[in-house]
Order: sequence, then structure tokens, then C-alpha cells
Amino acid sequence: MADRLTSEQIERYSRQIMVPDLGGKAQMRLCQSRVLVIGAGGLGSPAALYLAAAGIGTLGIVDADKVELSNLQRQILHATADIGRPKVESAKISLTALNPDVDVIIHPVRFDESNAEQIAKGFDFIVDGSDNFDTKFLVNDLAVKWGIAFSHAGIVRLQGQVMTVVPGKSACYRCLFKAPPPPEEILNCQASGILGAVAGTIGTIQATEAVKYLAGFEDGLLTDRLLVYDAKNMRFREVEVRRDPQCAACGNGTGTTATTQL
Ligand code: ZN
Repeated sequence: MADRLTSEQIERYSRQIMVPDLGGKAQMRLCQSRVLVIGAGGLGSPAALYLAAAGIGTLGIVDADKVELSNLQRQILHATADIGRPKVESAKISLTALNPDVDVIIHPVRFDESNAEQIAKGFDFIVDGSDNFDTKFLVNDLAVKWGIAFSHAGIVRLQGQVMTVVPGKSACYRCLFKAPPPPEEILNCQASGILGAVAGTIGTIQATEAVKYLAGFEDGLLTDRLLVYDAKNMRFREVEVRRDPQCAACGNGTGTTATTQL
């Protein structure tokens, strides 16, 4: 790994290097960082594009699906000509075209307990762009166990929510939601719909948090609070999240456990 930026990198990243809170040192850190994006869909698309544009050294992309026509309204990594192609392949083409410096590692599988450790090993940050509660709880529990910071997010209709978890320092997703909701209460994109730009806003916040964390921001991360976005009324509000000492993931484990067992 080079220990200084090339003149091409300095030009490519000049507008963020100029930002006083970032600078060349932070850019070097970004170029040496590894981010795993789970899901190349509505959240993962904007997140991965901004992370690639920002010069994250290695991007891992996990998704088992193929591109469908109904994805294109929000999953901006993919184009019409990609229909039928595995999403991870389409993602790699888009991200490499945007920034050939980024090493894109793809996994055309569903992220689950059987492959999680092998996929996530060595990553510095995880963007959870998954669309189901089983994966969200799995990502939380494993990231907490392994000490990998991550961004949780969820979107439905005209609403979104997002929170950053820094294991050992902040509340985790399971401190807030003890277990997945019963199936009859679950709203998802497929059944309920989603405005593409809402996914874009939330996925972009996830990328912003990843960059801040990796650049070494000590304060100001979206930790211990869930940011809730109501696009219909164009309002953001925050829900304070406290670390639960009995949390089954980050506490002493005496709290309620869910179906996801480690
Ligand atoms: Zn917790």
C-alpha cells in the first residue's frame, strides 16, 4: 500500500481534501479503508456509489439477487441493460467505471450465519443495506461481537431510519429493538413500496457516516440516536437510544433474545 497520494488521486479527491475536517491525511485513511456493503439495492446503491467516489480502498458487495426491471426506480447502481445480471456484477461494473482505484470484491450470495464471518473478516465498517429483519439483527449481533462499526438503516414508503453503531461505545440495534417484529407487522419494499429518492437520502447518510468514521471523526457520529426521516412532511427527528445493560448482543445477555442466535 502506497503511503502517499498520487497526483491523480490528489486531483480526483481535491474537493474533499479541501474540507478542513478531512484533508490529505483523512483521504489516505479512506484510500486504505475497507467497507462491506450488504445489499446492492435501494440503500446499498447510493452508499456504494458515494463510497467509491470518495476513494474507499476496498468495497465488498454482498447480494444474491439479479437485477429486475422493478429495481431500477431506486437501485441506481444498475441500468436497464443490466436486467437479468447478478446485482453484484452490475455493481462492480458501475463502481469500477466511477473509480477504477477501488478494489471491488463481490459475493453473489445472501449474507447469513454460514458465510458471514468469511465475508466480513477484515472490513473496517459495514453498511447494512439489507431489506429484512433477520439480516439486520444478524449484522448487528456479529458486528458487535467482532467490534466492527456499522450503519443500520431501514426504509419503507416515504419513511426512513438510520443509526450508527460503534461496538463497545454506543448502543446497538438490539438495545433499541429487542427482536424482529412478528411477520404480520413487517412492512417491506416489495409489499409496501418505497420512493426511490427516500432510499437515496438514507443510503447517502450511511455513506456519510462511514466516511466520517473511517476519517477518524471522534464526535458527531449518528450514535445513541436513531434518525427518523418523514419525507411526506419533510421532517427529520431523533429518537434517543440508550445502551441496554441487559442487551442480548452488547450487554450481559440476560435480555430478550430473538430468533438470531450466535
Ligand atoms: Zn445492544
